[in-house]
Amino acid sequence: MAKLTIIETGLWDVPRNEIIRAESPEIYAENRRYTIIGYCVLIQDRQLGNVLWDTGIAQDWENGWPEQFKRDYKIRRLNSLTGKLAELGMTVEDIDLLICSHLHYDHAGNVKQFKNTHAGQKVLISQAEAQEAFSRVAMSPSGVSGAYFRDEIIMQGIGYETISEDTWISDDIFLFIQRGHTPGVLGMIVRTGENGNFMFVSDAAYSKLNFGPPIVFPGLCVDEDAYRTNIIRLRLLKETYDAKIIFGHDVEDFAQWKTSPFYYE
Ligand SMILES: [Zn+2]
Repeated sequence: MAKLTIIETGLWDVPRNEIIRAESPEIYAENRRYTIIGYCVLIQDRQLGNVLWDTGIAQDWENGWPEQFKRDYKIRRLNSLTGKLAELGMTVEDIDLLICSHLHYDHAGNVKQFKNTHAGQKVLISQAEAQEAFSRVAMSPSGVSGAYFRDEIIMQGIGYETISEDTWISDDIFLFIQRGHTPGVLGMIVRTGENGNFMFVSDAAYSKLNFGPPIVFPGLCVDEDAYRTNIIRLRLLKETYDAKIIFGHDVEDFAQWKTSPFYYE
């Protein structure tokens, strides 16, 4: 059974319209803010070693973000990933496998920290996400397309491996592909010992509110039918594996979980 440590990476404000599709044109026009939380997960796995799921917002975001991005996304608190790993007595060199649920700025922002490391040679993502992210940033003259930053995900010293179907990558880690928020957000189930199973859904369900029932659609969604179908599948998976579900960015719901240096096993 795996040991699981949830690492909180920050708190920031985003346009509410991204998280909750505006109920009316008036609400859309108001352009309200919404506060969200981010996290990474460290899994100490019997077969794979130290597995890191997601990397958070870039530690050097102030240098890399365009001005408009800084206005739209206001950082309240940011924990550096390497600092958080150091608190656990680890560096990026200690990570054996890096997985990105998807390649948006708040999940892949610190992939660059893994340049030329063992894990950085084969960052695991879904095939659908690779196709979406790499083609979008390639076609954008500025290198920024939606929430994808070319400079954060494509560089010398970083390579990717993809999966195109749901896979148990070890006895205790199951990865599954979710279409909706993007074409291929990875979800993950981790089996621990006495604390049971955990399911990380990333941005396929930002929050308990989106998850429902009833489902509340986010503004950011590439495929509404697939989003709905996936939420229904998540409810079934939760039942089947008797799993605790951890949403992508839910401040209130997140407060119930232990975070690093505390862990589940
Ligand atoms: Zn996100």
